Parts: sequence; structure tokens; C-alpha cells
Amino acid sequence: MSQPSFRTPKGTHDLLPEDQQYMTYIKKAVRHRARQAGYKRIETPIFESKDIFERGIGAHTDIVEKELFMVSSKQKAEDPEYALRPEFTAGICRSFVEHGMQQLPLPVELYAIGPCFRHDRPQKGRYRQFNQFDFEVIGLRDASIDAQLIHVLSKILSDLRILDRLTLQLNNIGTAENRSEYIAALKDYFIGKERNLPDIDRSRLESNPLRLLDSKEEDTQILLKSAPTLSQFLDEDSIAFHETLKEYLDVLEINYVENPGLVRGLDYYTQTVFEYWDNETGAQNAVGGGGRYDPLIELLGGNPTPGIGFACGMERIVWQMKQAGVQAPNKDQIDVFVAQLGPDAKKMCLQLISQLRDLGVHTLGALGEASLKSQMRLADKFGARYTLLLGQMEVKEGTIILRDMVAGKQKQIKIEQAVPLIIKHLGAENLDTYTLKDHMADGVDED
Ligand code: AMP
Repeated sequence: MSQPSFRTPKGTHDLLPEDQQYMTYIKKAVRHRARQAGYKRIETPIFESKDIFERGIGAHTDIVEKELFMVSSKQKAEDPEYALRPEFTAGICRSFVEHGMQQLPLPVELYAIGPCFRHDRPQKGRYRQFNQFDFEVIGLRDASIDAQLIHVLSKILSDLRILDRLTLQLNNIGTAENRSEYIAALKDYFIGKERNLPDIDRSRLESNPLRLLDSKEEDTQILLKSAPTLSQFLDEDSIAFHETLKEYLDVLEINYVENPGLVRGLDYYTQTVFEYWDNETGAQNAVGGGGRYDPLIELLGGNPTPGIGFACGMERIVWQMKQAGVQAPNKDQIDVFVAQLGPDAKKMCLQLISQLRDLGVHTLGALGEASLKSQMRLADKFGARYTLLLGQMEVKEGTIILRDMVAGKQKQIKIEQAVPLIIKHLGAENLDTYTLKDHMADGVDED
């Protein structure tokens, strides 16, 4: 076979039909838990003004400094620069301000599902285009909000049967003032020790010193052992907030471990930060994470409004589910394959297929000119549960052959019996019926 000339861009992948069942299953769990807790779905553009990410996430974070995918549509000098969203929070907060959502009953609870883009070095579990689901609660600052948000996340992970493979890491990183005092102390501590830092962390010490705390460099971690810790710089309010949050997590029976090194890469976080880590591999390939971002809305031009949110990587969840042996239900099975021969049979088949589909039976029909034998082989390849065969003889006699593909048995029946018999065999509860009314009651679409 010749090599295809075009391939997916580096760090991206096709989500083929066989991968969709996992994605659909995750989205179902997300929508279900979101609805239970009063979250409403929001969709923001896949690209936004670059400034939103610079202000919201921070100009010196890896995500903005190195990983933004720019969208080149700049035709005039005054046109804004756009970037593909590397995460949801900044765009959702922009939307909150733009649509005056502070007038709504607070807190405003929003969720989103969709692709995000980071120009990272691709490796296992790290892609340039990946899917996230994201939850945000905007408008209230209370530890019970933090606890409830984490609770929703833990419920989703539990529904997907991967919670016991993960550990919730929890920290409080205080206010911006706490952190700037701490950063000054950290810089003081490193005076004269810079030479011992790996290059990457030496430059972080200048641009974003907090990133040293979750550095993966061994030399840095050794030096940090005797460095001042962020927890020594927390104000009373942050300490009390954290203690209350832990009490609420206990009430909700949510397990966690305290992780003083967890800072998260983004500038906008204040106080609560958390991540779900794989029990074995830890920080690498975290499944999801989030935190409180009380200054963010104001940074984006709104009135001061507190908020908290989290995002999870769906590809990483799929990986966890596969590791855990969780089967996502596949609803794409073919119930009936209709095989036919001759022009009259073909017309009757078209009607029969349409009738079966309307009743919720997954039906395929071979409408080509192949022999009945090769159509039967095709039915087998499609994995059809039953086949209906209609040849010229049968049309004349007003009959049809119903074949049970699993039992390998067949019988000739009256054509009028075909539909009721199929329904009886499949069971009314297994029919895939779909009405617009159900759809509207659901309130959200299926993607
Ligand atoms: P973050 O806010 O950066 O911690 O991202 C939230 C979640 O998105 C992470 O815990 C991952 O599950 C997922 N994620 C982030 N970056 C990537 C990536 N490059 N590829 C795949 N998943 C990612």
C-alpha cells in the first residue's frame, strides 16, 4: 500500500469512530453531573484575542510564553492578535464580563466541552490539540463552593470508574500579596545559589519563581528542601479558608492529600488549587486540575468577582478508563441487515429499511447488485444481529427470509410479519427511539 501523502499535524490525532464511544460516554457523565448541580453549558470561540490569555493566564507562564498557537488573520496593524484557546477559563470569564452575567443570580455555574490547543512538545498524553471539559463557578467566595466543585469532579471521575486510580492533591497558595512576599524571600534564598540551578529553572527564577516549586529538576528539588515554604507566608484568612475547605471535603467524604508544592502554572490562581494525579505516575499526566481565581474577572475588565473552576483532559481520561478496563457502551451496533435481489425486491427493501429505522432499529441495507451470498457475507462483517433476505421468489410469494446471524438459523415468514418479529426479538426496550421532545427536555445537544 502506498504511503498517504497527508497526515494529521504533529501532536494532533483523528478521533476515529471506535474512539467516539469513550468520548460520548465521558460527555454523558459530564452533562449528567452538570445538570444535577445546576451548571449551564456555554460555548466560547475556539480563538480569542491574545491579550485575554496574556492577562488572564499570565504573560510569563509556559502556556502563554511558549505554547500559544497564533491565528494569523492580522490584515491591518490595528487588528488584534488572536490565539487558539489553550484552556477555557479566560474565555469564559471574558464572556461573563461581556454579557453582564454579574446581573444574574450568583453564583453563575457554567460548563464547557471542547478542544484546546497548546504548542507543546508532543509526547504520550500531551498533545497539541486535546479535548477538555471545564466547570466554572463565578460570583461567590466561600469554601463550600470550592468543596462542591471538587465534589462534582470526583463524582464524574467515580461515574467513569477511574476515581480509585487517582489522588486529589490539594494546596492553598494564598493571595497575590502573600505570594509576592514569598517570591521575594525565595529570590533572596537563591542569591549565590543560582549557579546550581538547571538553566530552565534559573530563568524561571527571574520570570516566574513559583514554578520552581513544581519543577521536575532534581537539583532544584534538593535546593528547595531548605528554602522558605509558601505556607509560611499565608495570611490568616487563607489559612482559615483552607481549614474550612478541608472540613467540608471531609463532610463530603472526598479523599485528598495536602501538597505544599502544588502551585499550578497559571498566574490567576489564588488560594485553593487542586489536581487529580495518577496514583502511580503523579504530576506527570495529571487528569485534571483547577483552582480559585478571585482577581481574574477584574483583570479582564469586570467588577471584582471571585470565581473557581477546573478542567480535565478527556484523552487522559480515556487512557485511564482503558487502563482500568472500563468498557464504554457501544450503541453503534447493527441490528438488521436487509439483503435483496431484483428491482422489485429493492423497492420493497427501501420501504422496509425506512420503516425499521423509524421504529428505532439500527438497519443497513445492501442496495448494490451483489449476489445474495455476498450480501450475507457483508451482513456478517457488519456484525448484524439479524438479516432479512428478499429475493425475486420471495417477492412473488409475499414472503421474506429472517436469519438469526448468531444462531445461524433462518425461516421464511410472511413479509408483514418481518417488522413485528424483529421488534419482538430485539425487545422494545432496546429500540433506539429519538423524539424532538426528549431532545428539548434534555436542553443540550449531543456533541
Ligand atoms: P491544566 O489546567 O494545564 O492543568 O490542564 C488541565 C488538564 O488538561 C490537565 O490535567 C490535562 O488532563 C489536560 N491537558 C493539559 N494539557 C494537555 C495536553 N497538551 N495534552 C493533553 N491533555 C492536556
